[in-house]
Amino acid sequence: MSTTNNELVKLSASQMAEKIRNKEVSSRELTQAELDVIDAAEPQLHAFLHVSADEALAQADAFDEKLAAGETEGLPELAGVPIAIKDMIVTKGIPTTAASKILEGWVPPYDATVIEKIKAAGMPILGKTNLDEFAQGSSTEHSAFGNTYNPWDKQRVPGGSGGGSAAAVSSYEAPLALGTDTGGSIRQPASFTGSVGVKPTYGGVSRYGAIAMASSLDQIGPCARTVLDAALLHEVIGGNDRRDSTSIPEPMPHVVDAAREGLKRDLTGVRVGLIKEISGNGEGFQPGVAKRFDEAVKLLESMGATVTEVSLPHLSYSLGAYYIIMPSEVSSNLARYDGMRYGLRVMPPTGVPQTAANMMAYTREAGFGDEVKRRIVLGTYALSAGYYDAWYGSAQKVRTLVIEDFAKAFEQVDVLASPTAPTTAFKFGEKTDDPLAMYLGDVTTIPANLAGVPAISVPCGVDDETNMPVGFQFFAPQKRDDVMYKPAAALEAALEETWGGNILTKMATPWLAD
Ligand code: GLN
Repeated sequence: MSTTNNELVKLSASQMAEKIRNKEVSSRELTQAELDVIDAAEPQLHAFLHVSADEALAQADAFDEKLAAGETEGLPELAGVPIAIKDMIVTKGIPTTAASKILEGWVPPYDATVIEKIKAAGMPILGKTNLDEFAQGSSTEHSAFGNTYNPWDKQRVPGGSGGGSAAAVSSYEAPLALGTDTGGSIRQPASFTGSVGVKPTYGGVSRYGAIAMASSLDQIGPCARTVLDAALLHEVIGGNDRRDSTSIPEPMPHVVDAAREGLKRDLTGVRVGLIKEISGNGEGFQPGVAKRFDEAVKLLESMGATVTEVSLPHLSYSLGAYYIIMPSEVSSNLARYDGMRYGLRVMPPTGVPQTAANMMAYTREAGFGDEVKRRIVLGTYALSAGYYDAWYGSAQKVRTLVIEDFAKAFEQVDVLASPTAPTTAFKFGEKTDDPLAMYLGDVTTIPANLAGVPAISVPCGVDDETNMPVGFQFFAPQKRDDVMYKPAAALEAALEETWGGNILTKMATPWLAD
């Protein structure tokens, strides 16, 4: 019996890869099936800023020829499976904008290291996904090119900044995507869309070719529909890169083995610590989120895990520290967009002196959106002479305390856990006039970036009140990303048994017409 397009695109990436290896489907057929979904869904979702259909099909054909010639030995398991890329990662010959007018029309002359690896793996690139401008935001509403809609409910945001990648993956437009996570931009959108998102250990995946937001926090990572798929993609993109000076030199841990181990659903001996400061009962947490989180904790116990509460006392200050450190780095990183080198250039109007300084001012005024300007101003202030020690210096001290909190906690437990986000996906416009309200939603994801530790978000159910998915977050020690994949995969498998399938089977997909 032949598989219909809809059945095909609903397979996990690892199942797709198996069909490709068994020659039941070609990479081209699979890529075309995804492009068909993209065609049908984009008018409703707007997850993509650019669809690279011709390039994707050419890459698929090249892979299929290799497979036919028996030349795919040594390629990763995901070989031939297509992928979408957050438009914060540079792709040679394919427009890259960071969802900003200041980079509109820029076609990079080089590939990010992760893109080189994706291409070497024979994985066709479907296109570039939408985000908050320069990855600054939690809803994708700050994109200069329009909103992305949550596939579960089009009145709600898909999260941010990587709302496009998360929406593409959860709507079956793509089996996999890449995101970037500076303060939660992979995990929170995963939580809002019922998908899986991973922020690897800082330095575990090369940042070369990731457009810099806040370099000491930025990490590229996988967006997927299953924990195993995320692990498979993590191994494709991870590893040392001499072009990134913060890249970890030693070999990366075997996250795929850990995920497969987790699927056996035996967590005997695994010590899980619930982070007291963000475990769901505090202010700002939606009751339905805490409820699904608590049920998931019981499931972990039923699989043999021991669960205790652990306090990380300085976590309460991490949001404040992040919103000093991050804008400081933003103000410095975004100084390069000055109209001189690439991207937009706006000349001063007649009557205004045609100086370089004026050109830069007009270019930046026209090219950056309000949120980006807000952060540049905040960061410039925090770094200015006289304020540096009070703001930036203090925030760095808090960061050290947060790092120490994690290190101490991991002496007692193997993994830490919290809800991925305090709420489910909110409605458009709900927080756009109140930046602080938007920032407060990052309280659960930011600590991992400050401490450089890895974290994963897996769906743990649907909130009764909003009917939107809830995410469960595991944190692991630095360089031990494998440790979090095991309980994440076990939890996913146990929950899927109670649901009778992946959480996304609970979502209506009107764009997948038969
Ligand atoms: N929401 C966070 C922010 O606005 C995270 C952004 C990110 O991870 N890129 O900064």
